[in-house]
Amino acid sequence: MSDDGDYLLLSGIKHYKFCRRRWALVHLEQQWAENALTTDGHLMHEMVHDTAFTEKRGRILLSRGMPVKSERLKLSGVCDMVELIKSSDGVSISGRTGKYHIYPVEYKRGRPDESGADTWHLCAQILCLEEMFVTDIPEGAVYYGETRKRLVVPITDELRYEVRAAVSEMHEMFQRGHTPRVKPQKACFSCSMREICKPTLLSRGSAKGYIREVLEED
Ligand code: SF4
Repeated sequence: MSDDGDYLLLSGIKHYKFCRRRWALVHLEQQWAENALTTDGHLMHEMVHDTAFTEKRGRILLSRGMPVKSERLKLSGVCDMVELIKSSDGVSISGRTGKYHIYPVEYKRGRPDESGADTWHLCAQILCLEEMFVTDIPEGAVYYGETRKRLVVPITDELRYEVRAAVSEMHEMFQRGHTPRVKPQKACFSCSMREICKPTLLSRGSAKGYIREVLEED
């Protein structure tokens, strides 16, 4: 939960996409554990975030650590980077002359993820930005530290629907205080919450069965 009372933290959506139980452990039960992957990820975000910092590069203003919120979705958080690209058919930005297109870029360590969590995170940011600036944002990008490349993400109607539905479920689970049961999956191997979650102990099957189940899924 964010400081805004009934608002949820926007960044929670990536945990939710990765595993609903992981989101509940972190956001409902306030449990957290670091592993090498999450530590690297935090360091990268600290390097990008510099609250209220804006830099000008030609016709592009780079805004790092921009706070965002959506009243409709009851979500709030911070964007790693928002590029404000000067354009006559863009929108006005408070304190700036001219009009701009809004283009968020989320920074992640590693490579493009298979779970879709990064895409959902970016889409949630875009839904907030669209509401704040009363504009349409058809795409954004995720920058991956390992490949040093941007992945352009089109914000389709289907993606918007999935993210809105997930946020609605998150609010419902938060209100009920419901933490889903363990569902062992391949993602458990790289999950920093594994020791807290204990997927093998809390699931019904044996540890051997758990490993077999995961390998078969693979
Ligand atoms: S260990 Fe597995 S089940 Fe538990 S929170 Fe992580 S991904 Fe989810």
